[in-house]
Amino acid sequence: MARYAMVIDPDRCVDCKACMVACTSENAVPVGQHRNWVDSTTGGTFPELRMRIEPEQCHHCDDPPCVQVCPTGASRVSETGGIVIIEKSDCIGCRYCMQACPYDARSYNEELGVVDKCTFCSHRILTGRDPACVETCPTNTRVFGDIDDPDSEAARLLRTRTTMRKKEEAGSGPNLYYLVD
Ligand code: SF4
Ligand code: SF4
Repeated sequence: MARYAMVIDPDRCVDCKACMVACTSENAVPVGQHRNWVDSTTGGTFPELRMRIEPEQCHHCDDPPCVQVCPTGASRVSETGGIVIIEKSDCIGCRYCMQACPYDARSYNEELGVVDKCTFCSHRILTGRDPACVETCPTNTRVFGDIDDPDSEAARLLRTRTTMRKKEEAGSGPNLYYLVD
C-alpha cells in the first residue's frame, strides 16, 4: 500500500493563498471555512528581520488522535495510502476530533452539522492527479507523493534534504514534512 505525504518548502511560498482558493473550489468548502491555510511569522531583529511562511492543513497522521476519540468511526484512516478521512454520513457533530487534533486542522460545518477536513483530494489521487493545492501552487512549494516509492519526488526530497515535522512530541506521526535547508 502507498504511504502518502506532503513535503513543503517554506522558502518557496509567497503567501499568495492560491492553494486555499483551489481547495475551496475543488472541495466546495463553505464560505467562512477552510481546509488549508498559510501561517506567517516574523523573527530576527532589525535590520535582519526574517519572515517564515508555512502552508498548513491536516497532517494525515499515522496514529491520529482524531480517529481515536471519534465515537462513531466517522473519522478513519482510509485504505488510500493512509489518508485520514471523515465519513460525513457517520458524523454526529460532537467535535471531539476537533479538540483532539494537535494541528487544529478540522472545522465545523454549521449548515450540515458535521466536521470537515482535508482529504489530500483523495478523489483526485484515485485518478492519478495531485491534490488541487499542489497542482495550483505557482511556486511548487508543495510536493505530494508516496514516500514508500523510492522513485517519487517526495521520497527523493526526504532522502536528500533536511526536513522537520511539527509537534512531533504529540506522538501522532504527522505526514507533512517541511524543508529546513
Ligand atoms: Fe487528525 Fe489532526 Fe492528524 Fe489530521 S492533523 S490526522 S485531523 S489529528
Ligand atoms: Fe467523529 Fe464527527 Fe464526532 Fe468528529 S464530530 S468525533 S468525526 S462523530
